[in-house]
Amino acid sequence: MKNYQIKHSDLDGWLEKIIAAGRRVIAPVTEEGHTDFRPIHSPAEVAADDQVQTIQSAKQAAFPKAETLFSYRKEGTAVSLDQPAPESYLQTVVWRARPCDAAGFTPLSAIFNWDYKDNLYNARLARTTLVAFSCQQADAYCFCTSVGGGPGEKKGCDILVTKLPSGKALVEVCTEKGEALAALAPGLFSEANAVADDSPLFAEKQSALAQLPARFSKEDIRRHLAEAFDSPVWREQSERCLGCGACAFVCPTCACFDIQEDPHGSHGRRIRCWDSCAFALFTQHTSGHNPRPSQATRWRQRILHKFSYMPERLDATGCTGCGRCSRACPVDMNLLEHLTSIAQK
Ligand code: SF4
Ligand code: SF4
Repeated sequence: MKNYQIKHSDLDGWLEKIIAAGRRVIAPVTEEGHTDFRPIHSPAEVAADDQVQTIQSAKQAAFPKAETLFSYRKEGTAVSLDQPAPESYLQTVVWRARPCDAAGFTPLSAIFNWDYKDNLYNARLARTTLVAFSCQQADAYCFCTSVGGGPGEKKGCDILVTKLPSGKALVEVCTEKGEALAALAPGLFSEANAVADDSPLFAEKQSALAQLPARFSKEDIRRHLAEAFDSPVWREQSERCLGCGACAFVCPTCACFDIQEDPHGSHGRRIRCWDSCAFALFTQHTSGHNPRPSQATRWRQRILHKFSYMPERLDATGCTGCGRCSRACPVDMNLLEHLTSIAQK
């Protein structure tokens, strides 16, 4: 795939062309002091690029908070079913995601294709083009470099844009979907060299990235978790957890969902919506028995699932180190601190 350069001042012009081409575009928008992904219709709506992260991740492009699986209508003895047609989903561009957003689609895709192939998720992802921007700043919650990612990593991106100090931006095209997006504004791009490890362009890109030394490795965590099932660490770390589920809802890799009925007399629909392993009822059986009866067992499940079970079963880590769960937690459960203490035990 090709690399390009574009002036910083032409990025809005490129976005205008993307919007004019009829794509649904979601991008960071600031409302009442909070920056989150929202549909936009003009580059002027996009938040200033001075934030580490949006509150929620980009996963909603392929895995919405709630979606209809089918709707039904009963007339007399006849029942008609109406199912969504994935081919009718809009072509969507996620503008200015972060590399840790893009990396989240690898574990999500592994989960949604593990045994059953989830056509709704797959169809949405196939119609989504991810334009990630490299991180030029990180905060105390970020730890992508500890879990195999990085501020300028391309994994999962269709395009990675890195704003260089020269006033140009390096546009690394990673997929054909990305190439199609660059082709919408040919006059704005000039071709750039490959970013080989010893090239001046590589050095210039590195100089533009946030500096974020790794604090541990995925392997360290996995090795310690292999012996930690009965450890007191789960009770110690989860003592202040409220079980609110915010950590799962902002996470780019959390994939748990619930199925709900929405009946209205003779018609209704079945929907799926995000769920969280932190909820007390998440694993409660109809008998009343709950195999995870305490917040400690639920916290243990969250960590083991992401850092032990998923690597073992799906060859994917369920965390991109984005830090969103820690930023969103109302009682300051800090995942980086908790993982660092596990890695040092
Ligand atoms: S956001 Fe914090 S308090 Fe809420 S469930 Fe997650 S860890 Fe617990
Ligand atoms: S567990 Fe937390 S840090 Fe890891 S990907 Fe999810 S939100 Fe980000």
